[in-house]
Amino acid sequence: MDFNTILKEIQDEIQKYFTKGKLPNYIPMLAQADENDFAMSLVTLDGEEYHTGCSNKKFSIQSISKVFTFTLALEHYSKELYKRVGHEPSGNPFNSLVQLEYESGIPRNPFINAGAIVTTDCLSSIYENNVFSKILDFIKKVSNDQDITFDEDIFISELGHGFKNFALINMMKSYHNIKNPIDDVIQTYFKQCSIMMNTKQLAHAMLFLANHGKDPFSKEPIISESKAKRINSLMLTCGHYDASGDFAYKVGLPGKSGVGGGIVAVVPKKMAICVYSPKLNFHGNSLIGTKALELFTTKTGLSIF
Ligand code: GLN
Repeated sequence: MDFNTILKEIQDEIQKYFTKGKLPNYIPMLAQADENDFAMSLVTLDGEEYHTGCSNKKFSIQSISKVFTFTLALEHYSKELYKRVGHEPSGNPFNSLVQLEYESGIPRNPFINAGAIVTTDCLSSIYENNVFSKILDFIKKVSNDQDITFDEDIFISELGHGFKNFALINMMKSYHNIKNPIDDVIQTYFKQCSIMMNTKQLAHAMLFLANHGKDPFSKEPIISESKAKRINSLMLTCGHYDASGDFAYKVGLPGKSGVGGGIVAVVPKKMAICVYSPKLNFHGNSLIGTKALELFTTKTGLSIF
């Protein structure tokens, strides 16, 4: 398949959507992104790469980090993890408090904010003061790139404005579903959200999920085949919050978005994809990123259905 031509066609066809969507402003630093940015990267299991747009430009990975922390936590806790975070779609916005209260502080899944905060708390119990550097090391390992770090300004911006996340963690603490000090856990969570990567690095970082849990190049197992299957299933059913059904319907691939404008997607046994465009739709997912992935699976037939 001529992926270079397909990427060019996608880039042309998404131009008309640049007037749509909005930059997020509840984290003030994210509102400073360049509205016209677009990048898309494909990396195949045999090492071929195709890129278009600003694929070297780094952006904060935000909720895409939830895939990495969930992978690490699942590796350590296995089924025990599901006592503290579920695996059902929430049908609610990513930072919703409502469901969390009537479900007694147990978040529906690890890909909404509350679920990822619990996951980070679980990792804090294992790694203690080193938790952020362990998360970062894991991301460097799966990306095969040591040059990854977080953005202090974005971290501080969220720390000063992440009121809903403070509400979520306090509510979960009241239900005894947070074991470590609130300030430490929330800071680790905000730091992991402010990790900066480009579409090339993120596509690389997802390859193990396209390859039954193994690094396709070193052949090193990152996670078991069965856990990789479950992570992909959760990305399909929960990766886009209350728009997860819509994403599955339109794109037909496991995927995870972040309010920084990135979306990663996995084509099982073939490749990983990352798209970036910072303006978001109503549900907080990249508007053009979603459109680009829909065009990709329509043009190539490479969806799981
Ligand atoms: N850091 C963001 C938040 O907690 C991540 C949310 C997202 O990417 N959907 O609100």
